[in-house]
Amino acid sequence: MVKSVWISCAAAVAVRLSAGAEEVKDYPIQPTPFTAVKVEDGFWGARLETNRAVTVWYAFKQCEETGRIDNFAKAARLMPGSFRGTPFDDSDVYKVIEGAAYSLATHPDPKLDAYLDGLIAKIAAAQEPDGYLYTARTIHPDNPPGIASPKRWLNDCGDLKGKYGDSHELYNVGHLYEAAVAHYQATGKRTLLDVAIRSADLVASVWGSGKLEIPSGHPEIELSLVKLYRVTGKRTYLDLARFLLECRGRGKGIPLAQYANHKPVSEQNELVGHAVRSVYMVCAMTDIAAILGDGPYRKAVDAMWFDMASHKMAVTGGLGARHGGEAMGDAYELPNAEAYNETCAGIANALWNHRMFLLSGEGKHLDVLERVLYNGVLSGVSLSGDRFFYVNPLASDGTYPFNQGHTDRFPWTGCACCPVNIARFIPSVPGFAYATRGRSVYVGLYLASVAEIPLGNDTVTLRQVTDYPWNGKVRFEVLNDAAGEWELKLRVPGWATGEAVPSDLYRIVSPAAPAPRLTVNGQPVRVVTEQGFAGVTRTWKRGDAVEWELPMPVQRVAANGKVLANAGRVALERGPLVYCVEGADQGGQVTQLVSADDAVLKAERRPSLLGGVTVLNGEAAEAFHREDGSVALRPVGLTAVPYHVWCHRGHNPMAVWLPRAADKATPLPYPTLAGQAKVLASHTNPPDTAAALNDQILPAKSGDTSIPRFTWWDRKGTVEWVQYDFSKPSKVASVEVYWFDDEGIGACRVPQSCKLTWHDGTEWHPVANASAPGLRKDRFNRMTFDPVTMSALRLEVQLQPEFSGGILEWRVLP
Ligand SMILES: [Zn+2]
Repeated sequence: MVKSVWISCAAAVAVRLSAGAEEVKDYPIQPTPFTAVKVEDGFWGARLETNRAVTVWYAFKQCEETGRIDNFAKAARLMPGSFRGTPFDDSDVYKVIEGAAYSLATHPDPKLDAYLDGLIAKIAAAQEPDGYLYTARTIHPDNPPGIASPKRWLNDCGDLKGKYGDSHELYNVGHLYEAAVAHYQATGKRTLLDVAIRSADLVASVWGSGKLEIPSGHPEIELSLVKLYRVTGKRTYLDLARFLLECRGRGKGIPLAQYANHKPVSEQNELVGHAVRSVYMVCAMTDIAAILGDGPYRKAVDAMWFDMASHKMAVTGGLGARHGGEAMGDAYELPNAEAYNETCAGIANALWNHRMFLLSGEGKHLDVLERVLYNGVLSGVSLSGDRFFYVNPLASDGTYPFNQGHTDRFPWTGCACCPVNIARFIPSVPGFAYATRGRSVYVGLYLASVAEIPLGNDTVTLRQVTDYPWNGKVRFEVLNDAAGEWELKLRVPGWATGEAVPSDLYRIVSPAAPAPRLTVNGQPVRVVTEQGFAGVTRTWKRGDAVEWELPMPVQRVAANGKVLANAGRVALERGPLVYCVEGADQGGQVTQLVSADDAVLKAERRPSLLGGVTVLNGEAAEAFHREDGSVALRPVGLTAVPYHVWCHRGHNPMAVWLPRAADKATPLPYPTLAGQAKVLASHTNPPDTAAALNDQILPAKSGDTSIPRFTWWDRKGTVEWVQYDFSKPSKVASVEVYWFDDEGIGACRVPQSCKLTWHDGTEWHPVANASAPGLRKDRFNRMTFDPVTMSALRLEVQLQPEFSGGILEWRVLP
């Protein structure tokens, strides 16, 4: 049984200080620290162990190999050399320390403890005498590299000369404070905490009315100062957090929505701009609303939550629709293949919704937390613990490198915020499982565990036995009888009562889940749900047993009609899990699939697949082209896997949202030469796709933007090519090309010239006796040549000067 110093992720024991006449409170609901929740095997046991044994050490190794840790040694003059990397890299080291400390708190590990001691010694040595800690500047005091300005702080949110930039000086130390609090609580050592306090005292001396009044360029320090306040009891840190929030929207720093700096925070009512920035900001606002009872902040966070849940959340719980600026989209802008959904933004959404629950007591916030946790966050790390998604789209063609240049999870990347955020977030998950208020014990997450839950002066010891999320049966056993009468409050997830999400953004099409069932010591108890929880109050005794069953049918979920990307489509869900289809289970393709509303799907346990998952199996149809070009449907089997484990079987087309009828499907091509060829291109503009070349979807005109297209955008005036690789030597005598040309709306034109070459398996040759190049708009351009047997055919173009180009369809004829 774990019994150690308290730790919390969002809020912890209430700290009462007498600052003037004001009584400072904390969240009305107090989370049970994760150190008090011992996870027993099951779904989370495996994930926690992988994070502890693999991810934390792997991330430290990457920080070493990429010079992130040496930067501290260089700043401390323990070794020579210049700064390496990006100035916000310091934060990565702090985040892994935080994750390592969380692991240490539940799993003593002398080797890890000693490693942290050595690392913290370097960090402490890198701190300047007045508390300043930012290795890029300390190594290069006069000319810090990258995004830092010559003067401290001034470039944290754009420098004072109006030049935009963001040094992340405050962001970095924000993660330092979180790491320091975690390390102190895990080990009782003050080494890193003292570094954090020196830094925070410096920031507190520099910021204030009449002093520095610029906001942070990337919020994070605000919520971490709240944690530092809780552990030190020093009111200055709480006031500084609020002051930094109040600096926003006052005309200082970059005045853009992208930085959540377009309006004073209490006037903000939509989640806009950079997703992680805005959600970290609103996490801190929620803390301030709870601790200081700030009414305008409460109103603002409620409005921003409504905007997020009603307009901007992917079905996986992911946030931030746009690659550009890593930004929130407009209302209902929820794309699939192009969706960004940064892993960090998913983590931020979970952290925020936990806070919203602690503030409001409403289960709907934990529903959102659970949705993003099991889908949009867990997808961010491989089952092996050492491969990562930064970007979490809802569809992939298996070739577009959506993930920072990768089509699958990468081993590491220059901007490593997401891998290290995973490393610190996963071990904190058991801290979302329980919370208390008065004599009530809330069960927020269902996970196999034994918890020692502080309840007033008592402790409730509760075992959960469950195979959740694979199965909705949960058994609770009361292991002590010290606590007298109290209320057990079981979260009734929205999906169990016919509500996909707590808004009209998504709805369950069918079927409704059978009602939850509850028994206490074998006696049925009527389930009465209030604020998303079913409560049972009694004098509990050792040996009391509660059987709680949340039936988990396969459910079809549709998006609000205003989400254009998903009109006519459904997502498959079971319990808290969102499912997807992968090429690996569907003959290499997924966009041809149609899942009719009455198709039968059943859950099936597959212990040997993807670490042991429950798949969905059943009927579907696939659309295909007949020889005459018409489209038909034929029956086909469908297997869907949990979204969070997709992309473990090679580069692989994937889709979450499936067509309900043939009109939204991409029919399989008739088995022509082109239709069976592998497509290559010198360059493909995402989200355009080379698959458009042979998809047999016929354009209405060269400017047809309603069908899939291929373009070389944004290359202009260059020589480019596309190529068909044939599976076996094939005789070809002509081609037909339908050029993309969006004159009037874009900068793609029919190319200046084109030519064909063929490959004999060894080298390229020009085609013989070629007809004139066909370069006309709004039609297929046929080009003939002497028939020849080839292994590949290449179409090379010279783009017009100043213009790009593209192709809607490329046929090959024998
Ligand atoms: Zn990230």
